[in-house]
Amino acid sequence: MAEIIDGKKIAESIKEDIARRTAILEQKGHKTGLAVIMVGENPASKIYVRNKIAACERTGIKSFSYEFPDTAQESEVAELISALNEDDNIDGILVQLPLPKHMNERRLLEQISPEKDADGFHTQNAGRLFLGEECSAACTPSGIIELIKSTGEIIAGKHAVIIGRSNIVGKPLAMLLLQNNATVTICHSKTLNIKDIAKAADILAVAIGVPEFVTADFVKPGAIVIDVGMNRTQEGLKGDVKFDEVSKIASYITPVPGGVGPMTITMLLLNTLKAAEKKFGRD
Ligand code: NAP
Repeated sequence: MAEIIDGKKIAESIKEDIARRTAILEQKGHKTGLAVIMVGENPASKIYVRNKIAACERTGIKSFSYEFPDTAQESEVAELISALNEDDNIDGILVQLPLPKHMNERRLLEQISPEKDADGFHTQNAGRLFLGEECSAACTPSGIIELIKSTGEIIAGKHAVIIGRSNIVGKPLAMLLLQNNATVTICHSKTLNIKDIAKAADILAVAIGVPEFVTADFVKPGAIVIDVGMNRTQEGLKGDVKFDEVSKIASYITPVPGGVGPMTITMLLLNTLKAAEKKFGRD
């Protein structure tokens, strides 16, 4: 039976460290700040934003919330981002996605100063990640690396298979695993024999958005299985991995909820804190 990787507990301990470090910055006269921009009334986005603001409060990071109606113009949001880029009270900026269809998501994300890019979505940060340079890396993949490391298993030399190649999970995760000296294979919707490839994995990370896609016959006994999926179904929240089956043969597995999810917000806070520490020094 697999050991459960408790994302909630690991996230809590990282948050404690963040709180300690924000307090040190505050003693030096700087209150770490995160600006959260939301456009429209997407109910899921509202919940995510609420959770991010609550997490800020618990770690001593001041959140600045900006809400625009669905009818707002892209230029209004761009103007706000420009002002926040210049504001010394703001260390991190995030634009909650998705944006309304009339806005160009990529253009707005590029508007954020790379130094304040808390989500790590700016092309400069994605490029630095690709080059293996220090950067604000995408939050979900960074959190996954922490979860894998928490098992005590060595990543170097392991064969990691990632199912899913999105810009926010699959691709940046591949780069981080490479940096950690894993041998990485990326699968996607056009991959042939996906089951056979997955079955060769020592580390299997699944980020596709298909409920319970990965069953026991995809998994090598003893593999570490990371389930990124968050699928709202009629039977409740489901991952991309069939937990009941796979947990019987994996060595470690993340649950949904309580696995990858709590780490994503924590890494957002960590990126914001690191940006502040870069400016105001870390003890
Ligand atoms: P996405 O942008 O929709 O990308 C999905 C990826 O999965 C694509 O690369 C797609 O392949 C691939 N795919 C889809 N169906 C497939 C199949 N049947 N076989 C193989 N590959 C398949 O998704 P995402 O944003 O990465 O999110 C994936 C899941 O993770 C979602 O459930 C999302 O809610 C969840 N998520 C969770 C967190 C968290 O914090 N816990 C964060 C982000 C995302 P193609 O490229 O060929 O189309």
